[in-house]
Formats: sequence, C-alpha cells, structure tokens
Amino acid sequence: MLTIDPFVGHRIWRLVPSGGEPILASATSGDPWLGPEAEAACFAGVLLQPLERRIVPDRHPGEASPALDCTCGLYAAKSPTSPPHRRVWAAGRLELWGRVIEGTKGFRAQRARLIDDVEIFLGMGPGSPRCTSPPCRELATGVWIGSTSFLSRCDRHGRNRSIGFDDFEAWVRSSFRKRYGVGADLASR
Ligand SMILES: [Zn+2]
Ligand SMILES: [Zn+2]
Repeated sequence: MLTIDPFVGHRIWRLVPSGGEPILASATSGDPWLGPEAEAACFAGVLLQPLERRIVPDRHPGEASPALDCTCGLYAAKSPTSPPHRRVWAAGRLELWGRVIEGTKGFRAQRARLIDDVEIFLGMGPGSPRCTSPPCRELATGVWIGSTSFLSRCDRHGRNRSIGFDDFEAWVRSSFRKRYGVGADLASR
C-alpha cells in the first residue's frame, strides 16, 4: 500500500495588527495569512486571497503552484529558524500537502496548515525582552500596538499604546484559536 505522509515544515511570520486582530503576515512580502489553510498561487508565494493591491502575472497559467522552474509556492524550512530580533514575530509548524517541491533546506508547497500552537517572539535576544525603541535598551514591559506593527516597549516608550505581556498573549491566543484553529504562546515564558 502506498502511504503518503504530509510534509512538515517550519516557518516564521511577522505578527501584525490588522482590523483590530493580530494576524500572520509573510516576512518577505507582507501578504497576510488569513485562515487555517493557505494555498499557493503564482507569482512567488502570494496567497490565494483577494489581494487586489498587487497584480502580478502568473508565470505558468493553468499549471498549479509551485512550478518546478518558478519560485512560487508556500515556503517552509526543514528546521526551525530564529526570528530576527526586531518587531514581533511568530514561528510555527506547518503541514504541507498538494504539490510539494523539496529543496535542500526546505519546501515550496501548494497547500499548508498550521499544525500546533504558534510561538510568539517579542523582538529580543535571548532572555527578557528589551524595548525596541532605539537607542533604549530598558526591560520591555508590554507590546506597543501600532497601525502596522507590534513592538516590545518599556514603560516610558509604550505609554498609551501598549498592552501588558499577559494580556497580549491571551489576546493573540484567543484570536488565533478563532482564525487559525491553533493557540499561541510567548516564547519567553
Ligand atoms: Zn510560479
Ligand atoms: Zn524604551
């Protein structure tokens, strides 16, 4: 009997505010990941979503994404990667299926779904999160909610716009359960 196990890959996203909710966005293109499942479309990893703001040509009309001689598809790595120590990032494991092209370090897939809880990184090095308002390096006490980004901030720089870590974690967790079907945990805990 032929058994086809789905591939498992690791991916990081930026965590961004959108419409009053925290959502995952591509670290490279910024395209939002809006639901539990994503489907690739040419060109270059743009998700099949009604994103009219960018019209890009399909390099291989009629052929599914990812195509062998193209760069499109949903990208995932074979091993976990550390998010950059800036802004607020999310890392998660994905089940990959449909057409999957395997490379040396990762995959390009046609379909992907989050497998388990997502880890949230608060924009920090190892240890306690620090304020990311340059040149401040004070201990961060909460997450600043901007119009397009989350940033960890100290009491002084996060005033009026920030939410404490516990509340932030609870908010992301409940939003993610509804949107993605998985939870979320702060990586610093
Ligand atoms: Zn393509
Ligand atoms: Zn600060």
